[in-house]
Amino acid sequence: MSYKTDIEIAREASKRPIQEIGAKLGIGSDHLLPYGHDKAKLSQEFIDSVQNNKTGKLILVTAINPTPAGEGKTTTTVGLGDGLNRIGKKAAICIREASLGPCFGMKGGAAGGGYAQVIPMEDMNLHFTGDFHAITSAHNLLSAMIDNHIYWGNSLEIDTRRVAWRRVVDMNDRALRQITASLGGVSNGFPREAGFDITVASEVMAILCLSNNLEDLQKRLGDIIVAYRRDRSPVYCRDIKADGAMTVLLKDAMQPNLVQTLENNPAFVHGGPFANIAHGCNSVIATKTALKLADYVVTEAGFGADLGAEKFMNIKCRKAGIAPSVVVLVATVRAMKMNGGVLKADLGAENVNAVKDGCANLGRHIENLKSFGVPVVVAINHFVTDTDAEVEAIKAYVTNHGSEAILSRHWELGSEGSENLAKRVAEIADADMVSFAPIYPDDMPLMEKIETIAKRIYRADDVLADQKIRNQLKDWEDQGYGNLPICMAKTQYSFSTDPTLRGAPTGHSVPVREVRLSAGAGFVVVICGEIMTMPGLPRVPSAEAIMLNADNQIEGLF
Ligand code: ADP
Ligand code: MG
Repeated sequence: MSYKTDIEIAREASKRPIQEIGAKLGIGSDHLLPYGHDKAKLSQEFIDSVQNNKTGKLILVTAINPTPAGEGKTTTTVGLGDGLNRIGKKAAICIREASLGPCFGMKGGAAGGGYAQVIPMEDMNLHFTGDFHAITSAHNLLSAMIDNHIYWGNSLEIDTRRVAWRRVVDMNDRALRQITASLGGVSNGFPREAGFDITVASEVMAILCLSNNLEDLQKRLGDIIVAYRRDRSPVYCRDIKADGAMTVLLKDAMQPNLVQTLENNPAFVHGGPFANIAHGCNSVIATKTALKLADYVVTEAGFGADLGAEKFMNIKCRKAGIAPSVVVLVATVRAMKMNGGVLKADLGAENVNAVKDGCANLGRHIENLKSFGVPVVVAINHFVTDTDAEVEAIKAYVTNHGSEAILSRHWELGSEGSENLAKRVAEIADADMVSFAPIYPDDMPLMEKIETIAKRIYRADDVLADQKIRNQLKDWEDQGYGNLPICMAKTQYSFSTDPTLRGAPTGHSVPVREVRLSAGAGFVVVICGEIMTMPGLPRVPSAEAIMLNADNQIEGLF
């Protein structure tokens, strides 16, 4: 049997005008700012006007350690949202916007897959409502103003060797990782080394996603550290006087975007920070607004639960004052097999023993999530190649582990396939079983926070950090940054910092290579291993297959 591609399915969808989708959540058409017929932003006035509404239940979708293809968190988020609507609940979903980098590179789009997608998927995966362009512009305005300040006399005494603020572009372009800027003689300024990151790695992106309103946005932008002086004292964005103009550029980008699922249910798609050097979830403003409009809000955190859910809980929930009523942990038979040692090329063959071996990874994630005081349900995202015996092996393991696993076939069948999952998730959310707490308090010293995450979530024996790094953390504490949460940047493929150690490794250490202060976003980034802030394209990028067909329709997006 052959299956339709994601874009073929998306093209056949019967879309409703965006006003109809807004009406399902009680948003009057005068408060929807339409971008065409099928996308709209929400007015700030409307957002302000719903603040006293009752708050819905938040459902977090996360996953086991993924295989390189991604394991279907977005697909499951969309499928569960449609499933909840199908059983008569008022539900909305909240996901991240897509970056052009992965879209033209290897991973593909960010709109879900099969019969669980957000549409228009072409727009969502390309320019959408221009938010990323606005973020890129705001970021680069600051870059230009820093170099301009240096050019006109550098009254702030910036040490040009210590400019921390790079430039960004929303593209995988390894040629720009390290550049020399301001070449070409006196009229072009003072030559210095610089470089580009991808837009989703910009601190402006993280700030936009954590800000509660425009005022908060401007304050956080002002707090960005852009450079250091010779005496190592920081120079802030506020000193460059860029925060006001950046806020102007970001004014519309701060408003959440409303679109729809294939089944015409509301979906907020807003913000898209990296899940390594940033926290990897959609915007706080979209999530909190959705909670005021729907009874259930399904949202997703990037990567596996060791990174994505940990940061969702310890950073986003802490800062936004929200908590999930239930966590859905996505597992697939394929990922269990890979965690059980099977190579990608051999995933097609039934291998119940490998599934059982790989379940150790699942078990540890269940325990970790429960330690935040939230109930956990495992969703087995069904692939048509999975065998019954393999699925049963996961179910049996999860039952023995004091939790429950539900098979969900939303990719193949849409909400008809996710009804059982939706029923159970709603039941658990309604039972109010949460006693949520982040796993470390604000006032714990930074190094202890890192150790807490490494030991309790990664199950490492210890954290390895040079005196230089320990001193840096101490300095930040002395400067008043000690109360910030930690944003861990490590491989998503393992609980450890070694991507080849799958399953549930023990006896490992977590080496800290570098620490960075994101003073505007409000977290300390702890880098363990190689982290790419400007990815490259693979040998054969997906862009080679993306084109317009004879009917001017886009082919090759997935
Ligand atoms: P994640 O959010 O975890 O990165 P996605 O939901 O974006 O993963 O899915 C990654 C890819 O896998 C998409 O192309 C999607 O179509 C595909 N996919 C997801 N679930 C299934 C499934 N059950 N069967 C087949 N393909 C799937
Ligand atoms: Mg995703």
